[in-house]
Amino acid sequence: MTYGARESEEGSGSMADIQVYGATWCPDCRRAKKFLSDQRVAFAWHDIDGDDAGLREVETRNGGKRIIPTVVFADGSHLAEPSNEELADKLGLARSAMQHVYDLVIVGGGPTGLTTAIYAARENLETLVIDSKGLGGQAGVTERLDNYPGFPEGIGGAELANRFVKQAERYGDELLQAVSVTSITDEGHRELDVETATGEHYHARAVLIATGSSYRRTDAEGEDELIGAGVHFCATCDGPFYKGSRELLVVGGGNSGLEEGLFLTQFTDTVVVVERGDRLRGSKLLQDKVENHAKMQVLLEHGVAAFRPKDGGSGKLGTVELEDLKTGERSERHPDGVFVFVGLDPNTGFLGDRIALDDRRFVATDQTFMTSVPGVFAAGDVRGGSTKQLASAVGEGAAVAIQIRGHLYRIDRERDEGIGA
Ligand SMILES: Cc1cc2nc3c(=O)[nH]c(=O)nc-3n(C[C@H](O)[C@H](O)[C@H](O)COP(=O)(O)OP(=O)(O)OC[C@H]3O[C@@H](n4cnc5c(N)ncnc54)[C@H](O)[C@@H]3O)c2cc1C
Repeated sequence: MTYGARESEEGSGSMADIQVYGATWCPDCRRAKKFLSDQRVAFAWHDIDGDDAGLREVETRNGGKRIIPTVVFADGSHLAEPSNEELADKLGLARSAMQHVYDLVIVGGGPTGLTTAIYAARENLETLVIDSKGLGGQAGVTERLDNYPGFPEGIGGAELANRFVKQAERYGDELLQAVSVTSITDEGHRELDVETATGEHYHARAVLIATGSSYRRTDAEGEDELIGAGVHFCATCDGPFYKGSRELLVVGGGNSGLEEGLFLTQFTDTVVVVERGDRLRGSKLLQDKVENHAKMQVLLEHGVAAFRPKDGGSGKLGTVELEDLKTGERSERHPDGVFVFVGLDPNTGFLGDRIALDDRRFVATDQTFMTSVPGVFAAGDVRGGSTKQLASAVGEGAAVAIQIRGHLYRIDRERDEGIGA
Protein backbone atom coordinates (compact mmCIF):
# COMPACT_ATOMS: atom_id res chain seq x y z
CA MET A 1 0.00 0.00 0.00
CA THR A 2 1.17 3.51 -0.73
CA TYR A 3 0.43 5.90 2.06
CA GLY A 4 0.01 9.53 1.24
CA ALA A 5 -0.85 8.97 -2.38
CA ARG A 6 -3.69 10.63 -4.16
CA GLU A 7 -5.78 9.95 -7.18
CA SER A 8 -3.65 10.68 -10.22
CA GLU A 9 -4.86 12.52 -13.25
CA GLU A 10 -6.85 10.66 -15.78
CA GLY A 11 -4.68 8.89 -18.28
CA SER A 12 -1.55 8.94 -16.12
CA GLY A 13 -2.39 5.48 -14.88
CA SER A 14 1.09 4.03 -15.16
CA MET A 15 2.14 6.01 -12.06
CA ALA A 16 -0.20 4.09 -9.74
CA ASP A 17 -0.43 0.38 -8.96
CA ILE A 18 -4.22 0.41 -8.97
CA GLN A 19 -6.39 1.42 -11.92
CA VAL A 20 -10.03 2.34 -11.33
CA TYR A 21 -12.31 2.30 -14.39
CA GLY A 22 -15.68 4.02 -14.02
CA ALA A 23 -17.75 7.08 -14.82
CA THR A 24 -18.48 10.31 -12.99
CA TRP A 25 -22.26 9.61 -12.94
CA CYS A 26 -21.78 6.23 -11.20
CA PRO A 27 -22.34 6.46 -7.39
CA ASP A 28 -20.57 3.12 -6.77
CA CYS A 29 -17.51 4.46 -8.60
CA ARG A 30 -17.51 7.53 -6.33
CA ARG A 31 -17.82 5.25 -3.28
CA ALA A 32 -14.89 3.05 -4.39
CA LYS A 33 -12.74 6.11 -5.17
CA LYS A 34 -13.59 7.63 -1.79
CA PHE A 35 -12.67 4.39 -0.02
CA LEU A 36 -9.26 4.25 -1.73
CA SER A 37 -8.64 7.96 -1.07
CA ASP A 38 -9.66 7.57 2.58
CA GLN A 39 -7.11 4.77 2.95
CA ARG A 40 -4.58 6.95 1.13
CA VAL A 41 -4.04 4.28 -1.50
CA ALA A 42 -2.65 5.55 -4.82
CA PHE A 43 -4.82 4.85 -7.84
CA ALA A 44 -5.31 6.09 -11.37
CA TRP A 45 -8.83 7.02 -12.43
CA HIS A 46 -10.10 6.24 -15.95
CA ASP A 47 -13.42 7.81 -16.90
CA ILE A 48 -14.68 5.37 -19.54
CA ASP A 49 -16.98 8.02 -21.00
CA GLY A 50 -14.88 9.19 -23.92
CA ASP A 51 -12.00 6.78 -23.20
CA ASP A 52 -12.29 3.94 -25.72
CA ALA A 53 -9.25 2.10 -24.38
CA GLY A 54 -10.71 2.24 -20.86
CA LEU A 55 -14.07 0.98 -22.05
CA ARG A 56 -12.40 -1.90 -23.94
CA GLU A 57 -10.44 -2.81 -20.80
CA VAL A 58 -13.67 -2.99 -18.75
CA GLU A 59 -15.44 -5.11 -21.38
CA THR A 60 -12.50 -7.47 -21.86
CA ARG A 61 -12.16 -8.08 -18.13
CA ASN A 62 -15.87 -8.62 -17.57
CA GLY A 63 -16.72 -10.98 -20.44
CA GLY A 64 -18.08 -8.20 -22.66
CA LYS A 65 -20.11 -6.55 -19.89
CA ARG A 66 -19.73 -2.92 -18.86
CA ILE A 67 -19.46 -3.37 -15.10
CA ILE A 68 -18.16 -0.36 -13.22
CA PRO A 69 -16.27 0.32 -11.14
CA THR A 70 -13.75 -2.24 -12.33
CA VAL A 71 -10.65 -2.07 -10.15
CA VAL A 72 -7.42 -3.55 -11.53
CA PHE A 73 -4.61 -4.37 -9.09
CA ALA A 74 -0.82 -4.50 -9.52
CA ASP A 75 -0.86 -8.32 -9.62
CA GLY A 76 -3.07 -8.17 -12.73
CA SER A 77 -6.22 -9.34 -10.95
CA HIS A 78 -9.37 -7.24 -10.85
CA LEU A 79 -12.60 -6.81 -8.90
CA ALA A 80 -15.83 -5.81 -10.61
CA GLU A 81 -18.15 -3.59 -8.56
CA PRO A 82 -16.35 -4.43 -5.29
CA SER A 83 -17.80 -3.53 -1.88
CA ASN A 84 -15.60 -1.59 0.56
CA GLU A 85 -15.08 -4.84 2.49
CA GLU A 86 -13.86 -6.63 -0.64
CA LEU A 87 -11.48 -3.75 -1.38
CA ALA A 88 -10.17 -3.81 2.22
CA ASP A 89 -9.56 -7.57 2.02
CA LYS A 90 -7.81 -7.27 -1.34
CA LEU A 91 -5.58 -4.49 0.01
CA GLY A 92 -4.69 -6.68 2.97
CA LEU A 93 -6.04 -4.23 5.56
CA ALA A 94 -6.31 -5.87 8.99
CA ARG A 95 -9.90 -5.33 10.12
CA SER A 96 -9.82 -7.14 13.44
CA ALA A 97 -7.22 -6.97 16.18
CA MET A 98 -5.11 -9.83 17.52
CA GLN A 99 -6.74 -9.84 20.95
CA HIS A 100 -9.84 -8.50 22.64
CA VAL A 101 -8.43 -6.99 25.83
CA TYR A 102 -5.99 -4.06 25.88
CA ASP A 103 -4.74 -1.57 28.44
CA LEU A 104 -5.71 1.28 26.12
CA VAL A 105 -7.88 1.55 23.03
CA ILE A 106 -7.38 4.71 20.97
CA VAL A 107 -10.25 5.70 18.70
CA GLY A 108 -8.77 7.69 15.79
CA GLY A 109 -5.32 7.27 14.24
CA GLY A 110 -4.55 10.92 13.43
CA PRO A 111 -1.58 12.84 14.88
CA THR A 112 -3.16 12.89 18.35
CA GLY A 113 -3.98 9.19 18.53
CA LEU A 114 -0.67 8.08 17.03
CA THR A 115 1.35 10.28 19.41
CA THR A 116 -0.52 8.83 22.40
CA ALA A 117 0.07 5.34 20.98
CA ILE A 118 3.83 5.98 20.72
CA TYR A 119 4.00 7.22 24.32
CA ALA A 120 1.77 4.43 25.66
CA ALA A 121 3.71 1.64 23.94
CA ARG A 122 6.95 3.02 25.35
CA GLU A 123 5.32 2.62 28.78
CA ASN A 124 4.57 -1.03 27.90
CA LEU A 125 0.84 -0.41 27.75
CA GLU A 126 -0.84 -2.81 25.34
CA THR A 127 -2.41 -0.38 22.91
CA LEU A 128 -4.82 -0.74 20.02
CA VAL A 129 -5.46 2.15 17.58
CA ILE A 130 -8.62 1.99 15.45
CA ASP A 131 -9.20 4.38 12.53
CA SER A 132 -12.25 4.50 10.31
CA LYS A 133 -10.25 5.74 7.31
CA GLY A 134 -6.50 5.83 6.70
CA LEU A 135 -3.97 6.34 9.49
CA GLY A 136 -2.59 9.87 9.73
CA GLY A 137 -5.88 11.78 9.97
CA GLN A 138 -6.14 15.26 8.49
CA ALA A 139 -2.36 15.65 8.49
CA GLY A 140 -2.09 12.74 6.08
CA VAL A 141 -4.17 14.52 3.46
CA THR A 142 -2.51 17.93 3.80
CA GLU A 143 -0.20 18.92 0.95
CA ARG A 144 2.46 20.67 2.98
CA LEU A 145 2.94 21.58 6.60
CA ASP A 146 5.09 24.64 7.06
CA ASN A 147 4.55 25.36 10.73
CA TYR A 148 5.42 22.02 12.31
CA PRO A 149 8.56 22.55 14.40
CA GLY A 150 11.69 20.67 13.37
CA PHE A 151 11.16 20.93 9.62
CA PRO A 152 12.54 24.33 8.57
CA GLU A 153 11.79 23.65 4.89
CA GLY A 154 8.30 22.29 5.68
CA ILE A 155 7.22 18.68 5.24
CA GLY A 156 4.57 16.90 3.17
CA GLY A 157 1.57 15.88 5.30
CA ALA A 158 1.62 12.33 3.98
CA GLU A 159 5.32 11.95 4.72
CA LEU A 160 4.88 13.18 8.28
CA ALA A 161 1.88 10.88 8.80
CA ASN A 162 3.90 7.91 7.51
CA ARG A 163 6.61 8.75 10.02
CA PHE A 164 4.07 8.77 12.87
CA VAL A 165 2.76 5.37 11.72
CA LYS A 166 6.25 3.85 11.41
CA GLN A 167 7.20 5.07 14.88
CA ALA A 168 4.02 3.63 16.42
CA GLU A 169 4.65 0.31 14.67
CA ARG A 170 8.25 0.27 15.83
CA TYR A 171 7.06 0.41 19.45
CA GLY A 172 4.62 -2.45 18.88
CA ASP A 173 1.28 -0.63 18.72
CA GLU A 174 -1.47 -2.52 16.95
CA LEU A 175 -3.07 -0.36 14.25
CA LEU A 176 -6.35 -0.99 12.45
CA GLN A 177 -7.70 1.12 9.61
CA ALA A 178 -10.95 1.12 7.60
CA VAL A 179 -12.75 0.17 10.84
CA SER A 180 -15.20 2.60 12.48
CA VAL A 181 -15.88 2.64 16.18
CA THR A 182 -19.63 2.77 16.75
CA SER A 183 -19.86 3.05 20.55
CA ILE A 184 -17.96 3.28 23.81
CA THR A 185 -19.72 1.80 26.84
CA ASP A 186 -18.83 1.89 30.52
CA GLU A 187 -19.35 -1.69 31.66
CA GLY A 188 -18.70 -0.89 35.31
CA HIS A 189 -15.83 -2.32 37.37
CA ARG A 190 -13.54 0.02 35.44
CA GLU A 191 -13.98 -1.91 32.22
CA LEU A 192 -14.83 -0.11 29.00
CA ASP A 193 -16.23 -1.70 25.88
CA VAL A 194 -15.40 -0.38 22.41
CA GLU A 195 -17.63 -1.68 19.63
CA THR A 196 -16.75 -1.47 15.93
CA ALA A 197 -18.83 -1.46 12.76
CA THR A 198 -17.36 -4.90 12.02
CA GLY A 199 -19.15 -6.21 15.14
CA GLU A 200 -16.01 -6.68 17.25
CA HIS A 201 -15.87 -5.70 20.94
CA TYR A 202 -12.59 -4.61 22.49
CA HIS A 203 -12.21 -4.19 26.24
CA ALA A 204 -9.85 -1.79 27.96
CA ARG A 205 -9.34 0.09 31.21
CA ALA A 206 -8.74 3.33 29.34
CA VAL A 207 -10.07 4.67 26.05
CA LEU A 208 -8.92 7.77 24.18
CA ILE A 209 -11.28 9.59 21.84
CA ALA A 210 -9.06 11.22 19.18
CA THR A 211 -11.48 11.30 16.27
CA GLY A 212 -10.78 14.84 15.10
CA SER A 213 -13.19 16.82 12.93
CA SER A 214 -14.71 16.72 9.43
CA TYR A 215 -15.23 19.32 6.74
CA ARG A 216 -18.52 21.18 6.99
CA ARG A 217 -20.65 21.40 3.84
CA THR A 218 -22.51 24.38 2.43
CA ASP A 219 -25.76 22.34 2.32
CA ALA A 220 -26.64 24.17 -0.91
CA GLU A 221 -28.92 22.38 -3.34
CA GLY A 222 -27.09 19.85 -5.54
CA GLU A 223 -23.96 19.69 -3.36
CA ASP A 224 -24.25 16.01 -2.39
CA GLU A 225 -24.67 14.79 -5.97
CA LEU A 226 -21.67 16.77 -7.24
CA ILE A 227 -19.15 15.90 -4.53
CA GLY A 228 -16.11 14.55 -6.34
CA ALA A 229 -17.59 15.65 -9.69
CA GLY A 230 -16.72 19.34 -9.40
CA VAL A 231 -17.32 20.02 -5.68
CA HIS A 232 -14.38 19.27 -3.38
CA PHE A 233 -13.23 19.73 0.20
CA CYS A 234 -9.50 19.16 -0.19
CA ALA A 235 -7.43 21.29 -2.54
CA THR A 236 -4.40 19.14 -1.94
CA CYS A 237 -6.22 16.00 -3.00
CA ASP A 238 -8.21 17.33 -5.94
CA GLY A 239 -6.57 20.62 -6.99
CA PRO A 240 -4.23 18.96 -9.54
CA PHE A 241 -7.27 17.79 -11.53
CA TYR A 242 -7.77 21.40 -12.53
CA LYS A 243 -4.36 22.00 -14.06
CA GLY A 244 -4.81 24.46 -16.93
CA SER A 245 -8.35 25.41 -15.90
CA ARG A 246 -9.93 28.84 -16.31
CA GLU A 247 -11.62 29.49 -12.94
CA LEU A 248 -11.97 27.83 -9.55
CA LEU A 249 -14.29 28.96 -6.76
CA VAL A 250 -13.34 28.78 -3.11
CA VAL A 251 -16.23 28.99 -0.64
CA GLY A 252 -15.18 30.48 2.70
CA GLY A 253 -12.86 33.37 3.47
CA GLY A 254 -11.27 32.04 6.67
CA ASN A 255 -7.68 30.81 7.03
CA SER A 256 -8.34 27.51 5.24
CA GLY A 257 -10.16 29.14 2.33
CA LEU A 258 -7.44 31.73 1.78
CA GLU A 259 -4.55 29.28 2.24
CA GLU A 260 -6.05 26.67 -0.06
CA GLY A 261 -7.16 29.34 -2.55
CA LEU A 262 -3.56 30.53 -2.84
CA PHE A 263 -2.46 26.92 -3.31
CA LEU A 264 -4.99 26.49 -6.14
CA THR A 265 -3.60 29.45 -8.14
CA GLN A 266 -0.86 27.15 -9.48
CA PHE A 267 -3.49 25.16 -11.43
CA THR A 268 -5.84 27.82 -12.76
CA ASP A 269 -6.12 31.34 -14.22
CA THR A 270 -8.44 32.76 -11.53
CA VAL A 271 -9.48 31.77 -8.01
CA VAL A 272 -12.61 33.51 -6.72
CA VAL A 273 -13.12 33.45 -2.94
CA VAL A 274 -16.80 33.65 -1.97
CA GLU A 275 -17.39 34.85 1.60
CA ARG A 276 -20.73 35.40 3.37
CA GLY A 277 -19.43 38.14 5.67
CA ASP A 278 -18.57 41.73 4.77
CA ARG A 279 -14.86 41.01 5.18
CA LEU A 280 -12.44 38.12 4.95
CA ARG A 281 -11.90 36.21 8.21
CA GLY A 282 -8.39 34.84 7.60
CA SER A 283 -5.23 36.21 9.20
CA LYS A 284 -3.95 39.64 8.13
CA LEU A 285 -0.92 38.00 6.53
CA LEU A 286 -3.11 35.75 4.35
CA GLN A 287 -5.45 38.60 3.49
CA ASP A 288 -2.49 40.65 2.28
CA LYS A 289 -1.24 37.74 0.17
CA VAL A 290 -4.69 37.30 -1.39
CA GLU A 291 -5.05 41.01 -2.07
CA ASN A 292 -1.68 41.17 -3.79
CA HIS A 293 -2.08 38.01 -5.84
CA ALA A 294 -2.92 38.68 -9.49
CA LYS A 295 -4.96 35.47 -9.81
CA MET A 296 -7.12 35.95 -6.70
CA GLN A 297 -10.52 37.70 -6.56
CA VAL A 298 -12.85 38.11 -3.58
CA LEU A 299 -16.65 38.24 -3.60
CA LEU A 300 -17.97 39.40 -0.21
CA GLU A 301 -21.52 39.03 1.15
CA HIS A 302 -22.35 36.20 -1.22
CA GLY A 303 -23.40 32.63 -0.51
CA VAL A 304 -23.88 29.53 -2.65
CA ALA A 305 -27.56 28.89 -3.38
CA ALA A 306 -27.17 25.85 -5.65
CA PHE A 307 -24.73 23.66 -7.52
CA ARG A 308 -26.08 22.49 -10.89
CA PRO A 309 -24.73 19.78 -13.21
CA LYS A 310 -23.81 20.41 -16.85
CA ASP A 311 -26.49 19.75 -19.42
CA GLY A 312 -26.12 16.46 -21.24
CA GLY A 313 -26.06 14.11 -18.26
CA SER A 314 -22.28 14.04 -17.70
CA GLY A 315 -22.97 14.41 -13.98
CA LYS A 316 -20.22 17.04 -13.70
CA LEU A 317 -20.57 20.50 -12.19
CA GLY A 318 -21.75 23.10 -14.70
CA THR A 319 -23.14 26.10 -12.83
CA VAL A 320 -22.90 27.62 -9.38
CA GLU A 321 -25.81 29.82 -8.40
CA LEU A 322 -24.71 32.56 -6.02
CA GLU A 323 -26.91 34.74 -3.87
CA ASP A 324 -26.09 38.35 -3.06
CA LEU A 325 -26.91 38.33 0.65
CA LYS A 326 -27.62 42.07 0.72
CA THR A 327 -30.08 42.22 -2.18
CA GLY A 328 -31.18 38.58 -2.50
CA GLU A 329 -30.27 38.75 -6.21
CA ARG A 330 -29.11 35.53 -7.83
CA SER A 331 -26.27 35.26 -10.34
CA GLU A 332 -24.57 32.37 -12.11
CA ARG A 333 -20.92 31.43 -12.46
CA HIS A 334 -19.46 28.56 -14.42
CA PRO A 335 -16.22 27.63 -12.64
CA ASP A 336 -14.33 24.48 -13.53
CA GLY A 337 -14.46 23.39 -9.89
CA VAL A 338 -15.46 24.50 -6.40
CA PHE A 339 -13.55 23.98 -3.16
CA VAL A 340 -15.52 24.37 0.08
CA PHE A 341 -13.82 25.51 3.29
CA VAL A 342 -16.58 26.54 5.69
CA GLY A 343 -15.45 24.96 8.91
CA LEU A 344 -15.13 21.71 10.74
CA ASP A 345 -17.53 19.54 12.73
CA PRO A 346 -16.26 17.26 15.49
CA ASN A 347 -16.51 13.51 14.80
CA THR A 348 -18.58 12.76 17.89
CA GLY A 349 -21.81 11.37 16.40
CA PHE A 350 -20.92 7.81 17.43
CA LEU A 351 -20.79 8.79 21.12
CA GLY A 352 -24.57 9.30 21.41
CA ASP A 353 -25.43 10.82 24.77
CA ARG A 354 -23.09 8.58 26.77
CA ILE A 355 -20.32 11.17 26.97
CA ALA A 356 -20.82 14.87 27.74
CA LEU A 357 -20.26 17.22 24.80
CA ASP A 358 -20.04 21.02 24.76
CA ASP A 359 -22.50 23.29 22.95
CA ARG A 360 -20.64 22.81 19.63
CA ARG A 361 -20.65 19.01 20.13
CA PHE A 362 -16.92 18.78 20.83
CA VAL A 363 -16.02 16.44 23.73
CA ALA A 364 -15.94 18.16 27.12
CA THR A 365 -12.98 17.24 29.32
CA ASP A 366 -11.48 18.26 32.65
CA GLN A 367 -7.90 19.47 33.07
CA THR A 368 -6.62 15.90 32.88
CA PHE A 369 -8.35 15.32 29.50
CA MET A 370 -10.84 12.99 31.24
CA THR A 371 -14.41 13.03 29.90
CA SER A 372 -17.62 12.63 31.89
CA VAL A 373 -16.99 8.86 31.88
CA PRO A 374 -14.09 7.79 34.14
CA GLY A 375 -11.34 6.13 32.11
CA VAL A 376 -12.47 7.72 28.83
CA PHE A 377 -10.21 10.57 27.71
CA ALA A 378 -10.37 12.95 24.73
CA ALA A 379 -7.64 14.97 23.02
CA GLY A 380 -6.79 16.77 19.79
CA ASP A 381 -9.22 18.42 17.38
CA VAL A 382 -12.25 16.58 18.80
CA ARG A 383 -11.80 18.10 22.25
CA GLY A 384 -13.67 21.28 23.17
CA GLY A 385 -11.18 24.15 23.45
CA SER A 386 -8.45 22.53 21.33
CA THR A 387 -6.56 24.77 18.91
CA LYS A 388 -6.93 22.67 15.71
CA GLN A 389 -3.26 22.73 14.89
CA LEU A 390 -0.96 19.81 14.24
CA ALA A 391 1.62 20.78 16.84
CA SER A 392 -1.06 21.13 19.50
CA ALA A 393 -2.65 17.81 18.44
CA VAL A 394 0.70 16.10 18.93
CA GLY A 395 1.20 17.98 22.21
CA GLU A 396 -2.22 16.92 23.49
CA GLY A 397 -1.46 13.34 22.39
CA ALA A 398 1.65 13.32 24.59
CA ALA A 399 -0.06 15.08 27.50
CA VAL A 400 -3.06 12.74 27.54
CA ALA A 401 -0.75 9.70 27.41
CA ILE A 402 0.79 10.83 30.67
CA GLN A 403 -2.65 11.35 32.24
CA ILE A 404 -3.73 7.88 31.08
CA ARG A 405 -0.60 6.34 32.56
CA GLY A 406 -1.41 8.04 35.90
CA HIS A 407 -5.03 6.86 35.74
CA LEU A 408 -4.05 3.24 35.08
CA TYR A 409 -1.45 3.37 37.84
CA ARG A 410 -4.08 4.68 40.30
CA ILE A 411 -6.70 2.07 39.47
CA ASP A 412 -4.11 -0.72 39.68
CA ARG A 413 -3.01 0.53 43.09
CA GLU A 414 -6.61 0.84 44.30
CA ARG A 415 -7.34 -2.68 43.08
CA ASP A 416 -4.24 -4.03 44.87
CA GLU A 417 -5.32 -2.24 48.05
CA GLY A 418 -8.90 -3.47 47.64
CA ILE A 419 -10.31 0.06 47.25
CA GLY A 420 -13.10 0.99 44.83
CA ALA A 421 -14.98 -1.13 42.34
C1 LIG B 1 -6.61 20.92 4.71
C2 LIG B 1 -5.97 21.02 6.07
C3 LIG B 1 -4.76 21.68 6.21
C4 LIG B 1 -4.15 21.79 7.47
N1 LIG B 1 -2.97 22.44 7.58
C5 LIG B 1 -2.38 22.55 8.77
C6 LIG B 1 -1.13 23.23 8.88
O1 LIG B 1 -0.58 23.71 7.90
N2 LIG B 1 -0.58 23.31 10.12
C7 LIG B 1 -1.17 22.78 11.24
O2 LIG B 1 -0.60 22.91 12.32
N3 LIG B 1 -2.34 22.13 11.14
C8 LIG B 1 -2.95 22.01 9.95
N4 LIG B 1 -4.16 21.35 9.85
C9 LIG B 1 -4.79 20.84 11.09
C10 LIG B 1 -4.20 19.52 11.56
O3 LIG B 1 -4.10 18.62 10.47
C11 LIG B 1 -5.11 18.96 12.65
O4 LIG B 1 -5.11 19.88 13.73
C12 LIG B 1 -4.65 17.59 13.16
O5 LIG B 1 -4.60 16.64 12.12
C13 LIG B 1 -5.61 17.09 14.23
O6 LIG B 1 -5.23 15.82 14.63
P1 LIG B 1 -6.26 14.80 15.34
O7 LIG B 1 -5.51 13.52 15.45
O8 LIG B 1 -6.78 15.41 16.56
O9 LIG B 1 -7.49 14.66 14.35
P2 LIG B 1 -7.54 14.15 12.85
O10 LIG B 1 -6.30 14.47 12.13
O11 LIG B 1 -8.84 14.66 12.32
O12 LIG B 1 -7.63 12.55 13.00
C14 LIG B 1 -8.78 11.92 13.51
C15 LIG B 1 -8.86 10.50 12.99
O13 LIG B 1 -9.98 9.85 13.61
C16 LIG B 1 -10.62 9.01 12.68
N5 LIG B 1 -12.01 8.78 13.10
C17 LIG B 1 -13.05 9.65 13.10
N6 LIG B 1 -14.16 9.05 13.56
C18 LIG B 1 -13.83 7.78 13.85
C19 LIG B 1 -14.56 6.66 14.36
N7 LIG B 1 -15.85 6.72 14.67
N8 LIG B 1 -13.91 5.48 14.52
C20 LIG B 1 -12.58 5.38 14.24
N9 LIG B 1 -11.85 6.43 13.75
C21 LIG B 1 -12.47 7.60 13.57
C22 LIG B 1 -10.49 9.79 11.37
O14 LIG B 1 -10.57 8.91 10.27
C23 LIG B 1 -9.11 10.43 11.49
O15 LIG B 1 -8.11 9.65 10.90
C24 LIG B 1 -4.76 21.21 8.62
C25 LIG B 1 -5.98 20.51 8.46
C26 LIG B 1 -6.57 20.41 7.22
C27 LIG B 1 -7.87 19.67 7.07
